[in-house]
Parts: sequence; structure tokens; C-alpha cells
Amino acid sequence: MKLLVTGGAGYVGSVCTAHLLDAGHEVTVLDDLSTGHRDAVPAAAAFVEGDVATATDGVLATGAFDGVLHFAARSLVGESVVDPAGYWHGNVLTSVALLDAVRAHRVPRLVFSSTAATYGEPEQSPITEDSPTRPTNPYGATKLAIDHAIASYAAASGGELGAVSLRYFNVAGAHRPVDGPMLGERHTTETHLIPLVLQVALGEREHVSMFGDDWPTHDGTCVRDYIHVDDLAAAHLLALDAAGEGDGPGTHLVCNLGNGTGFSVREVVEACRRVTGHPIPAVVAPRRAGDPAVLVASARRARTRLGWAPQRGDLDGIVADAWSFARARVAS
Ligand code: UDP
Repeated sequence: MKLLVTGGAGYVGSVCTAHLLDAGHEVTVLDDLSTGHRDAVPAAAAFVEGDVATATDGVLATGAFDGVLHFAARSLVGESVVDPAGYWHGNVLTSVALLDAVRAHRVPRLVFSSTAATYGEPEQSPITEDSPTRPTNPYGATKLAIDHAIASYAAASGGELGAVSLRYFNVAGAHRPVDGPMLGERHTTETHLIPLVLQVALGEREHVSMFGDDWPTHDGTCVRDYIHVDDLAAAHLLALDAAGEGDGPGTHLVCNLGNGTGFSVREVVEACRRVTGHPIPAVVAPRRAGDPAVLVASARRARTRLGWAPQRGDLDGIVADAWSFARARVAS
């Protein structure tokens, strides 16, 4: 298929681009490099540097695209609380402009990076796609708004557009291509647990802070569902098929992506100690605003509707890949 990947210079977007190319697809990456890295875009992909809001239409005009995978977004919960305008403009208005371009050029498939943050504080665990969506921060609210926009564009497309929103839980790990450098998480401002813990093992910070040890969980720290980025990427390839055929055109399918197993912050730190052999000092810090105690996915729908089966659910394996990537980054 001829595909456009927005945000293909970012963590998840670059790994998905690598998987798409490996599967024989023709990929054009559109990214403004505001948070992504040019050298993360696999060499076999065409690259256009530009703003998704204004450049998508021009890119789609260059040929008959079979699908768009839309990763480009701002994605930091804390930042979204202090700069909501950046998120409503950068995520929602940009995505509506993208949808207009998709409609204008009659692109038949759209796969969107959504998030577990659309659910907010869950009433039940594991979280199914039918759970209430009450996001507790602007980041989650903007992703939910885009999910709604996609649903209505698909419904009104007269059967021309099939779309899938994939709601990611905690993505981690790194991709090891057959040739070329590993692809992993490298944010200028790192807020995610596993890369932060590994920075301690690299000697880049003295300790990791565990945000709260009085949560209603088995060891008092927050529980999350960690999914390997390669498993996540595999789901996008399946979603492209489902958007075009499996679920029929003119529909919007929402699927959670997670392993269905939760690990606490303490257990993640322990896994990082096992993998790195470093003692990794950890101190208890106050709770972080907006954190739910437990976020674990039911990915039953992804299994049944997409035929997805995660292969890399082992936490130590996820951490080991993130560790290889972190060490390679420091060495380069
Ligand atoms: N966390 C932590 N210390 C840190 C960073 C994160 O204790 O320095 C916790 C955070 O409160 C949450 C879990 O680790 O319970 C995962 O956080 P992350 O930011 O990686 O992902 P989120 O679940 O917010 O998407």
C-alpha cells in the first residue's frame, strides 16, 4: 500500500514506519521535527518536513494514497495541563485539518494513535472500550475529541473511509532493525518511567522518584500495563487491513492495545535492576497529579477484531530492549 505516516520521526511513528517498510509498503513520513528526530526516519521512507495541519493536503495530492497513519501529536499529560491551547490547537485542530485532507483526497483508510488517557480514572479493571471516557487531563480530552471527529467523518463518508483508533496503554521497549540503528524513546523532556529509571543506571541521574506509595495497589505504587513497541506496531499493520476490509468501509473501530497484565512502579524498578545489574536507588515522592492508581487494558477486541496477539509481553524483555537502546544512545 502507499501510505502517509504523520509523526514518523517520533518514537512510535518511526518504529511503525520500520514495520510498514519491512512488510513491503511504500511510506512517506510527514513530520515537523518539533519533537521527532530526522535520523529516526528509516532510510527507505520518503520524508517531508512540514506541519501536519497545513502540509497534509499537499502531500496527499501527490499520488493515490491507500492509507494514513496519524501519530503526530503532543503527548505530555503535565504539559497539557499548563498549556491546553497547545494541545487543542496542536492535536485537535491539526487532526481536523488532516481529516479534511483525507476526505478531499478520498483516502480509504485511517489509523489513529489514541490513548488510555481517554478513559480517565477507571471504574473497572481491566478497561474495555465500552468503559466510560472521562479524561482527567487536556491531553486525554484532545485525543478523545479526535476519536469522535474520526467517527463522524467515517460515518458521513458514504462508505469511503474506514478508520481505526488504537488506544495505547504504556508503550515501552525499542525496535532492533535488521540493519540501521535501534529505534527507541528519546524525548528532550523525559517523563516516562522506564527511560527515567534507565537514566539512573546510566549514571545520568542519582535516583528515580516513585510518585506515591500509598495507592490502593498490592505494594502501594501505581500499576500500569506495559506493551512492547514492536507489538504495538504489529497492531497498526493489522488495523490497516481492518480499516479497509475487515470491518467494512465507512466505520470506525476503537481498540485498546495492552498486555492485560499490570506491573507496579516498584516492580518496574526491580526489573530495571535485574536487567542492568545497577542498584538504581529509588525514593518515594508525592503523588503526581492526574495519575490513576491502576490502568490495565482488556485487549480482547484487538485480539478478536484485528487478530492481534502480543508476542513481547515479558517485562524484563521490554526493559532489556529499552536498555540496549539507552546504552547505544550514550555510546553514539
Ligand atoms: N512514575 C514514577 N516516577 C517517575 C515517572 C513515572 O513513579 O519518575 C510513575 C507514574 O506516576 C505512573 C507510572 O510511573 O504511575 C507510569 O508513568 P509514565 O509517565 O511512564 O506513563 P503514564 O502511565 O503516565 O502514561
